[in-house]
Amino acid sequence: MRKSSYTVVVDGARGEHLLYNTANAAFAALDDEAFGCYLAGEGAFADALVEAGFLTDLTTEEELAAQKAYFDAQRADRSELTLVLAPTYACNLRCPYCYEQGHNAIKGKMSPEVMDAIMRFVEARYAEHAFEKLTVQWYGGDPSLALDVVEELSTRFIDWCDARAIGYSAMMLTNCNLIDEDAVKMLAQARVGFVYVTIDGFEETHNARRVSAMGLNSFQKNIDAVKLFVKYGIEVRAVMNVDRVNWPEFHPLRNMLRDEIGIDLSCGRLCDYGHFFGSRGFAKPNFDLFEHDEFSRMMHEEFVEGGFDAATIADMLQPVPRFCNGQRDNYFVIDTIGDVYLCDGIIGEQDRVIFNVLDEPTREQLHSVSHDPQDSAQCRNCHLLPICQGNCNWERRATGMVCHPLLTTLPDFLRDYRSCFDVEPAPFVRLA
Ligand code: SF4
Ligand code: SF4
Repeated sequence: MRKSSYTVVVDGARGEHLLYNTANAAFAALDDEAFGCYLAGEGAFADALVEAGFLTDLTTEEELAAQKAYFDAQRADRSELTLVLAPTYACNLRCPYCYEQGHNAIKGKMSPEVMDAIMRFVEARYAEHAFEKLTVQWYGGDPSLALDVVEELSTRFIDWCDARAIGYSAMMLTNCNLIDEDAVKMLAQARVGFVYVTIDGFEETHNARRVSAMGLNSFQKNIDAVKLFVKYGIEVRAVMNVDRVNWPEFHPLRNMLRDEIGIDLSCGRLCDYGHFFGSRGFAKPNFDLFEHDEFSRMMHEEFVEGGFDAATIADMLQPVPRFCNGQRDNYFVIDTIGDVYLCDGIIGEQDRVIFNVLDEPTREQLHSVSHDPQDSAQCRNCHLLPICQGNCNWERRATGMVCHPLLTTLPDFLRDYRSCFDVEPAPFVRLA
């Protein structure tokens, strides 16, 4: 028997050895004797270790092949068609950190010809394989600058889906600066179930980072729009892009949004996606970026301070079929002029266009994904592969943040998990 490629070993408290298998989520706390059996691949506890998957008779290649088969099966799942649509590249903010700056010089909004082609594309995918659900993500630029396109396409999608009993849902990313009550009513009718909104700090900080091209108070615009979304039953997922400068505002802002509006605020690390940190106003002292590992550890501390239970951690550490929707065949990002991409992070990069929706795609073009983790030697040799699946390919390319945060913090989360169980380690404790 050999040790599974996906068994992680961590020193626990009380002299225990904590084992976790990332491919099947088995967890155990071993004393020295049982751990000796694991190291030797034989002995009194070998059967239990094999049953749990910590030891295996599969070769490294066979374990990888099993991972690949799982990834490929999920990738080919066509029960859902997902479209990310950019009705315009225009944006009415001038955020110093925006990675889309200079990405695309295309002006205006999506034409009727492109909208018709998108409908034909949906019909063709349905004829090829009758999917059960159509999901649309409104993206940009800012889709609020082309709400007529959003309204028209939504109506066509909904009518088309309803006539075939196909489920339809949508979400939108927006900077909120043009969102008023009429817009929110229309979006509710267009079945936009949730919106992603960025709030980068309190008024002064936010307005210096999310700069309105029209000189508006973009913080107040966000707050007003968020209240309207809540009023009309559209879920708000608010995110703060954090660095060392605005981080002190995160907790007070989160509390304010919870107490006064009833929405939660999460945070994400502000990254130099466009490789221009130090210029264009995206520079110290107004911005100061966290390192990847530093931020991963901070997020673990946040997690601990917030209080946790075993079920939450178990959920976080489950194997996943993919990192993102870009790893599904039936996921297409379509921009204003109908160019199709495999990943929303690269929209506007001309050398990453797969085909144009006005043209007839080849089978190969239709069956491509943003990234297959096993194309990377680093991922093939990684014990975290089953719970990472290659991380965000765009972030890896754009920022050098190559890996999943759990590559840094998995040992801490495993110790946290063990601490949820008041069980002596005598001598092999398999925990749920
Ligand atoms: S690779 Fe990253 S940016 Fe691209 S679709 Fe996946 S999560 Fe989105
Ligand atoms: S992206 Fe990094 S953490 Fe994820 S599987 Fe690849 S090597 Fe492992």
